[in-house]
Amino acid sequence: MSAVEGPQSPVAASAHALSLELLLQNLPGVVYRCLVDADWTMEFISAGVEKLTGYPPSAFLARPGVNFATLIHPDDRAAAERGVALALQQGRSFQLTYRIRCADGSLKWVYEHGAAPPEGGGRIIEGFIFDYTQLRNANMLVYEQASFLQQARDAIIAMEMNSRITYWNSGAERLYGWSASEARGKKFCELLCENLPAYHAAYETTLTNGEWSGELSHLRRDGVCIETDTRWTLMAADRESGAPQKILVISTDISERKHNEAKIFHLAFFDPLTDLPNRASLLDHLRRALLGSARTRKCGALMFCDLDNFKYLNDSQGHAAGDMLLQAVARRMEHCVREADMVARLGGDEFVILIQPVEDTREGAASQAETVAAKVVAAMAAPFQLAEMMYSVSVSVGVTTMCGTVDTVESTLRQADAAMYQAKACGRNTYRFHDPAVQAAWSARAELENGLRRALRDEEFVLHYQPQLDRSSRVIGAEALLRWRLPNGKLLYPSEFIQALEESGLIIDIGRWVLRTACAELARWQRWPDTAGLTLSVNVSASQFTEPDFVPMLQQIFEETGVQPSSLKLELTESLVVSDFTHTAHTMATLKQRGISFSLDDFGTGYSSLAYLRKLPLDQLKIDHSFMRDVLTDQNDASIVRSIIALGDSLGLQVIAEGVETPGQRQFLSDAGCFIYQGFLYQHALSAEHFTQYARMVH
Ligand code: C2E
Ligand code: MG
Ligand code: MG
Repeated sequence: MSAVEGPQSPVAASAHALSLELLLQNLPGVVYRCLVDADWTMEFISAGVEKLTGYPPSAFLARPGVNFATLIHPDDRAAAERGVALALQQGRSFQLTYRIRCADGSLKWVYEHGAAPPEGGGRIIEGFIFDYTQLRNANMLVYEQASFLQQARDAIIAMEMNSRITYWNSGAERLYGWSASEARGKKFCELLCENLPAYHAAYETTLTNGEWSGELSHLRRDGVCIETDTRWTLMAADRESGAPQKILVISTDISERKHNEAKIFHLAFFDPLTDLPNRASLLDHLRRALLGSARTRKCGALMFCDLDNFKYLNDSQGHAAGDMLLQAVARRMEHCVREADMVARLGGDEFVILIQPVEDTREGAASQAETVAAKVVAAMAAPFQLAEMMYSVSVSVGVTTMCGTVDTVESTLRQADAAMYQAKACGRNTYRFHDPAVQAAWSARAELENGLRRALRDEEFVLHYQPQLDRSSRVIGAEALLRWRLPNGKLLYPSEFIQALEESGLIIDIGRWVLRTACAELARWQRWPDTAGLTLSVNVSASQFTEPDFVPMLQQIFEETGVQPSSLKLELTESLVVSDFTHTAHTMATLKQRGISFSLDDFGTGYSSLAYLRKLPLDQLKIDHSFMRDVLTDQNDASIVRSIIALGDSLGLQVIAEGVETPGQRQFLSDAGCFIYQGFLYQHALSAEHFTQYARMVH
């Protein structure tokens, strides 16, 4: 419209009408004016109606003509009429969408926006109708897709790159318990993630690869942790819609699957009766243990445990009693092994224990297995309470050691089984080793321990006394040395039994006997002028010295024997001093107050530390006889001996040499400044009687 031609000018008015007509004609839609009557009688309808419906405008304006209302799909007609009536009643405009049937029979969706203009007095409606089919179809597609997302079983979530949730479907509502309105705007990582490092890892991967998938545990609203199978996809920013870059997260709840998997795993690898690993599981673990052993060269062990006379219980008391016993046995067996080891049930009354390969040698593994086997046999000793009944059962155990470089699953199982039959053959309620050498060693050891117990009971131990002399070859004291006189008269030396005493713990009882016997002998010496000034050295093992009641025990011996403790010297070894310095130093100090003196035995063979030496209330260093043997020919030994003597001097400690066998050795020692000697050059250890005779003689 030009600025100089106003609407009042007739030329301008006709030009205006013309352009309006043109506008109406070209309008991609229909403008109308109709009466509010039953037929919606048209007063005006624009040319676009022909394009929309296939009927020319004249068809609607003719009387009678086409009634627009009749074109409305019967299903939509009532709603459309209701919509118009309500709007008119409320004096506002109306918006409708409905279908029309066109002249060619096709259906179209239309959108109509109309109102009753105020000047029409409520009798006229004007409005605009346009073809909405395409838009509606597109809308429907979007709507349908959105409803797919909504109805999906999976939880579908969109989050911005800062973890803020922007979309949350019904699946997410169901899975996590938060409604969409509660979840939107919250941070994904704060709302759901129990394991933040896993979240960050997924995030990083999504950033670099565009996607990530895997299993994540998520927290539900009620705090329960659920397992999900999750896929993250990076969605690029959409320039058109202005949507920023986001991550789409689709999660499926796999808690039930996980639970079922665990159940299936349990069924496949555990015995339902005892809940112990079953045969399949044992074979798997054994195979792995052997593979590991082949790699690490460490040794382990396998033990077959078979209940003795189990069939009798089953036959006499029924299977329920048998089942109860098996369950109780399983629990006791589990208590006999370390956490890494495994108790499995093969079936029936057969159990297997796998001792993991962690030992350097077969002997080490055998020793471990022996401890466990002894525990298993002992664990069955107490009767089992089966409902109302008490029942006793024993077990036969077959043990074999294994090393992956030599043994296989089959050979290991076969050997343990064979050893178990040997245990049965040996009267049941015991264990046997498959390896003949190991078995022989253990039998000998068991025999030795039994013998030592008997020796203590039957007083087969004796003390012999080896003289200690000064530079003028005068006896100044003795060392008490333990001997075992067998019933057949044979005399055994400590090297044959002292280790067994230590390892079996018998050393405590025997050490007490040694101290009592030695003190009684010393008390006797003290009663005779010829021997009254002699000192007596007694060897005390580390385990005995650290016993909590060592001091009171000694005190009691002093009282019983009436000995003067000032002539008693205790020989301690370096290992004791090193292993528990504080406690040792304290006990030494207490005993020192009673007048007892201390000698450090086997000096130079252990972890000698000057710091320890200085801090302990020692009186004497004892040069070990291993240095004496070659002192005249070996420069190293000679230097060590000289250093020990010099060290003793500088610390103000007396130095005694043991193992002095030749005059040459003695000369060497005196040249180096050591003037107290013990050794075969003078005497072997003598019986108490012979010692006193000897002492009087060289007095
Ligand atoms: P030890 O305390 O170092 O005892 C010295 C060992 O050297 C003794 O061996 C002794 O007989 C031996 N011996 C003495 N003179 C010579 C010699 O000139 N040449 C050689 N080659 N050896 C000599 P034994 O009696 O066989 O005792 C060995 C070890 O047993 C002792 O070493 C000591 O550690 C331990 N032992 C002995 N009696 C007892 C005891 O009553 N209690 C404890 N806990 N251990 C003891
Ligand atoms: Mg000694
Ligand atoms: Mg010694």
